[in-house]
Amino acid sequence: MTFRSEFSYETRPVRVVFRPGAAVTATPGEAARLGLRRLLVVCGSRGEAVARAVADALGDACAGVHAEARMHVPVEDADRAVAAVRAAGADGCVAVGGGSAIGLGKAIALRTGLPLIAVPSTYSGSEMTPVWGLTDHGTKRTGRDPVVQPRSVVYDPRLTLSLPVPLTVTSGVNALAHAVEALYAPDTSPLVSVMAEEGVRAMAEALPRLAADPQNLDARSRALYAAWLCGSCLGSTTMGLHHKLCHVLGGTYGLPHAQTHTVVLPHALAHNAPAAPQALTVLCRALDTDNAPRALWDLAARLGAPRSLAELGLRESDLAPAADRVAGEPYANPREVTAEGVRSVLRAAYDGGPPVTP
Ligand code: NAD
Repeated sequence: MTFRSEFSYETRPVRVVFRPGAAVTATPGEAARLGLRRLLVVCGSRGEAVARAVADALGDACAGVHAEARMHVPVEDADRAVAAVRAAGADGCVAVGGGSAIGLGKAIALRTGLPLIAVPSTYSGSEMTPVWGLTDHGTKRTGRDPVVQPRSVVYDPRLTLSLPVPLTVTSGVNALAHAVEALYAPDTSPLVSVMAEEGVRAMAEALPRLAADPQNLDARSRALYAAWLCGSCLGSTTMGLHHKLCHVLGGTYGLPHAQTHTVVLPHALAHNAPAAPQALTVLCRALDTDNAPRALWDLAARLGAPRSLAELGLRESDLAPAADRVAGEPYANPREVTAEGVRSVLRAAYDGGPPVTP
């Protein structure tokens, strides 16, 4: 394989602590290191019990718990959370939960500049990126700003023991999608390639073990380690067609995030494959296959994940306007983005058959 001899790579100051039990045992120390004394803990309604345990561990350094995170961060939720931060006189936030809770923490950081500590409970990888997302009147906007990058990330594999198998699988594939697109991003680099390959290998190995035995802490640790690597890849590169498609399907059509990534990924990769031979070489090595899109489709199907956008509730009449929307905005992708190309990826994902490489 040709060595990529021209690249740039930027790293941001983030401290990562990884150990079982760390949510409660490490978060107070991370807050102290950052000099924070009044932290608002943000989470979703389903994650409140764990967030309360983190809040209790923070003791006097906890300024309250705000349990209102929802998927795709509607702007009105961000407004309310910023008001809660100000009312509590907080000097920082701790987001406990999946990408939705961390997304709300990032929205607060974006508006106030306050530092964020992330305690992730899914494999979404948001904790390792400076990417924020906000949804306003059915349109999801995303942007990059170093101020939203969590300053400290506390990975606790025990938190993920309660993730139901279906969400374990789809969230794991969400992580794989970050690695896939990072490998063919215009700003990819040798370090990203190493992290992506290791992340894909570790996640693909952990998911079948977790589907068979969700309480296996060793497999949980391996999947969370993979999520860290894949999230780091996303944080260092520019997203392409796959992520753009998923943002539109989530933000405008209300489709669930991780499930949508799982359905779309094999088809988006098959579409881009002819223009990304180096990425395919790495992915095939990591997945031990000669057909990476098919291997991803097989993995998800074998583990019982949804296969089609139809199953996720998209209507056939949504396909054309969604494709026009995705094709209408400029972004980096190895293959030229055309309305026809996007329509074919969407149609294949809607039908849910095996991916076809052109
Ligand atoms: P999520 O945070 O919405 O969680 C999904 C569901 O699982 C929720 O009901 C939640 O309460 C529950 N849950 C979370 N952890 C659990 C656990 N350990 N046990 C039991 N239930 C648990 O979903 P997600 O897929 O993690 O995140 C999706 C959101 O994150 C989207 O809005 C997406 O755009 C965003 N995201 C952002 C980035 C980024 O870099 N900015 C990256 C990935 C995802």
